[in-house]
Amino acid sequence: MLLDSLQHKGLRQRLLRTLHGKGITDERVLTAMGNVPRHFFLESGLDKIAYDDKALPIGVEQTISQPYTVGWQTQLLSVASGEKVLEIGTGSGYQAAVLCELGAEVYSIERQGVLHDKAKNLLAQMGYRPTLVYGDGFEGLPQHAPFAKIIVTCGAGHVPQPLLSQLAVSGRMVIPAKSGGALYMFVFDRISETQIRQTKLKECSFVPMLQGVS
Ligand code: SAH
Repeated sequence: MLLDSLQHKGLRQRLLRTLHGKGITDERVLTAMGNVPRHFFLESGLDKIAYDDKALPIGVEQTISQPYTVGWQTQLLSVASGEKVLEIGTGSGYQAAVLCELGAEVYSIERQGVLHDKAKNLLAQMGYRPTLVYGDGFEGLPQHAPFAKIIVTCGAGHVPQPLLSQLAVSGRMVIPAKSGGALYMFVFDRISETQIRQTKLKECSFVPMLQGVS
């Protein structure tokens, strides 16, 4: 049963103010996050802390990203309504729901079967219609390419070439990737068929991007 109580709504509004204070100022992103009850994506035992600005466990050693990180990556992605967006690492499905709220045509890949199944049921129950794929995100989804935006929500040891090649001209990919032993947020902008501009941002922390399926 999915119940969004007044208390949950109040905690969510408080979280949005916290995020705004930390630099998530894009009103469309804040509105989208305000429309998605994060506690639906967590076990009921975590209900009380669902609106803390923290990453939390979702099973099989994975986590739902910290709300600040979701806000930051989503803001960097600057999604326009109707754009085709590919997410790597469906996890709980929370980030996918936020992208749906922004009006994106969402594709999301998850390598953990149990998480894929759970997210699929929950998002359908909530009325979202993303295309969820059980598979290895390193390959992307060539059959649905090109994508206007790509967001990777696990820490990559290297930047997967198939993902860059599935990025549309004028498209953008936001990906946490290893650089000199630490994980940094990177933005890749495809300027033309042959040119890509890379921007390295702050250090960050994510569960690892792993090969194959489980
Ligand atoms: N976006 C998620 C965050 C989940 S954590 C959310 O909103 O909850 C990152 C997820 O990436 C984990 O579920 C992990 O299993 C998944 N993952 C790791 N490597 C992957 C890969 N190669 N392909 C697809 N998913 C991957």
